[in-house]
Amino acid sequence: MMAQNPLEVLRKYFGYGDFRENQLEIIEKVLNGEDAFVLMPTGSGKSICYQIPAILCRGMGIIISPLIALMEDQVKALQQNGVKAAYLNSTLSFQEGRNIQRRAATGNLDVLYVAPERLLTGDFQQFLGHVDIGLFAIDEAHCVSQWGHDFRPEYLRINEVTRRFPHTPRIALTATADVVTQKDILDKLDLRRAKVFISSFDRPNIQYHVQVKNRDKHQLLDFIRSKHPEGSGIVYARTRKRTESIAAWLCQQGVDAMPYHAGLPPEVRMENQKRFQEDLTRVIVATIAFGMGIDKPDVRFVAHVDLPASMEAYYQETGRAGRDGLPADAWMVYSISDVTALRRLFELSQGSDEFKNILRQKLDALLGYCESTVCRRKLILNYFGETHAGACNTCDNCLNPIETWDGTIAAQKALSCVYRTGERFGAGYLISVLMGEHTLRIQQWRHDRIKTFGVGQDLDRTTWMSVFRQLLSAGLISVDMGQISGFRLTDDSWKVLRGEKEVWFRKDEHKTKERVKKQSPPKMDTFKNESAQVLFSALRKLRLDISNHLNIPPYIVFNDRTLREMAMVKPKNIHEFVMINGVGEIKAERYADIFLACVRGEEVDVKAFFKR
Ligand code: ADP
Ligand code: ZN
Repeated sequence: MMAQNPLEVLRKYFGYGDFRENQLEIIEKVLNGEDAFVLMPTGSGKSICYQIPAILCRGMGIIISPLIALMEDQVKALQQNGVKAAYLNSTLSFQEGRNIQRRAATGNLDVLYVAPERLLTGDFQQFLGHVDIGLFAIDEAHCVSQWGHDFRPEYLRINEVTRRFPHTPRIALTATADVVTQKDILDKLDLRRAKVFISSFDRPNIQYHVQVKNRDKHQLLDFIRSKHPEGSGIVYARTRKRTESIAAWLCQQGVDAMPYHAGLPPEVRMENQKRFQEDLTRVIVATIAFGMGIDKPDVRFVAHVDLPASMEAYYQETGRAGRDGLPADAWMVYSISDVTALRRLFELSQGSDEFKNILRQKLDALLGYCESTVCRRKLILNYFGETHAGACNTCDNCLNPIETWDGTIAAQKALSCVYRTGERFGAGYLISVLMGEHTLRIQQWRHDRIKTFGVGQDLDRTTWMSVFRQLLSAGLISVDMGQISGFRLTDDSWKVLRGEKEVWFRKDEHKTKERVKKQSPPKMDTFKNESAQVLFSALRKLRLDISNHLNIPPYIVFNDRTLREMAMVKPKNIHEFVMINGVGEIKAERYADIFLACVRGEEVDVKAFFKR
């Protein structure tokens, strides 16, 4: 059967029953010849938004993507699903490249991935003149912006190419959240008239946990042993040395782990990444150098043993967990010495005082998040400008309500101090005023004469620090990132000052730790039904054998989600098999026999199967 519409294509090639939020609208826009800008979090299914139009439209979809490793994976996955796809990048020989161009010229290709530097070559420009192009997709579109975290100069020149095809629709996609970068992308890619699609940045399947650090390695090991006895994970640590010592220690303790950082020889780094990607190594202990180019959908946990530098970094790194939509953990331990270490790093960094100040404020916002007693999901989404009602019931603060104290009066003192000093000072100065310190600076500003001078002596400096951080993370004060100025009041601050809103602060950190242990949520990898559990392991083993035999990563055969459903449904024939989410027609034909045999509990021989 020829698939005629987007839903038929989704079912036939990708094996999914329905579209997710915005996917169909985006696909229809592009098929209608219009431009689109897509902002969706990692794992929400951006690729389908250009792959399906590319399959359906006359002509071929050109996908511009900066990451060679991802390109290969995506193409392999598409080919497994029966889609005519290929890529052109520097890893191919001249002859291989030629062959692909020939295939494209005869109309025998639906999806062609290219690296931006290839797009710009004279040879490729000439090639574009001879083929039928249905759309241009610009993946990882934030690479065009200096404000983003991965600027690629070649991205600035993509327009030169697409401008020659004014009637060909363009779709730009990114998972980068912040507003400055968004605007910059629309500008630089000349997409001001594009329809903009923004999805929620919530990752409902990720569960957030934050603890105070005391014995980090042991805390990490406890977490892995109790909640992730199997399944892949990434551990982020700040320094190269730490990644190596933690990886070595985990291995001694029986957890299969390898380090990854920019100081390792390139071959070792590639090898470790590949082993992780192919499930040969379970845990990778990495610096932030590890990330871009990691498309592994079944990462079950991301653990931070050191505090990242900002909420943006935290969101991005934790976002590498659970791309397949199955439950995953974002777990972190933090300490005040992490904060000191980062601040020192900021001081030493190049850049203006203003820039350093922004770095400090971003770090403070993250620290406020750590200390807060509010639903973590709500805090994260609020930070990125989305509203959320809270009470997600999956984060640690929701699962184990933390002991709190009524901080309404303290908050009122702090806020009125912000107000009376003119909304231009940071926490350090404000606390000195609250504590009634007669410093030279305070005297110069005459702040020893205002009403709030000295009203905060009932609390100590550390507690006030924590009060300000928690006010910041709860949106009860804000900082203007563009200026050196300190805290400002928000609409909600006035509610507190007028006595219309109560404020509660986290009490004692040590007490909460024990509670977390007692009530931790159930393990990720368990089934209620034991036969399903046994079958799931057998299916995973079969998948690994197949992936080794075909030399593709396991999740390209089927992802965890699909295997779980298989283990629970236990399909008896190909009709039941193709109904499983993630099983398209082509894969059903290719794999039904061997997987059905495994479901029946038979011994399966992968080599013999593929020889038939
Ligand atoms: P992104 O590029 O946004 O990070 P992907 O395109 O890699 O995300 O998609 C993430 C996962 O979600 C993939 O395994 C993909 O096959 C799956 N997916 C995408 N769309 C759907 C859908 N409509 N139903 C079920 N799964 C989907
Ligand atoms: Zn919550």
